[in-house]
Amino acid sequence: MSYLSSLLPFPTPSFDAAEFWHYCSKRQLMFQTCGECAVSRHPPVPVCPNCNSKSTTWTEAPHVGKIFSYTVVYNASHEAIKDNLPYNIVLVEFEGLEDLRLVSNVVDAKPADLAIGRNVEVIWEEGPGGQLLPRFKLNRE
Ligand SMILES: [Zn+2]
Repeated sequence: MSYLSSLLPFPTPSFDAAEFWHYCSKRQLMFQTCGECAVSRHPPVPVCPNCNSKSTTWTEAPHVGKIFSYTVVYNASHEAIKDNLPYNIVLVEFEGLEDLRLVSNVVDAKPADLAIGRNVEVIWEEGPGGQLLPRFKLNRE
């Protein structure tokens, strides 16, 4: 069962994001990394915003990240999501990938469980059309 309704529409990935989603389909959380200055970025774009290089490699994120920020949503912005209230939206950051943050959800957290700096661990959930989505669970270690 998915954290949010499987009735939510899934966006069509852009040309640049297709490779990110391809890695996700293999349960790999990979981020674009500049082949010149080695700065990682997300969402994927064709040119490095740090040095303007078009050279791109991919870097696998650690499986554990930290909550950089979060919010809890109490009002449904889409009809398909009204039964999921309240739900959280988190920004997750990863050691070694400075200034890169991933928007996601923590699937096992009540609002009071969320805290900036709390460790979370990536899990994979099947979304609309069978696409695997990177979501997170609380890291209780
Ligand atoms: Zn660069």
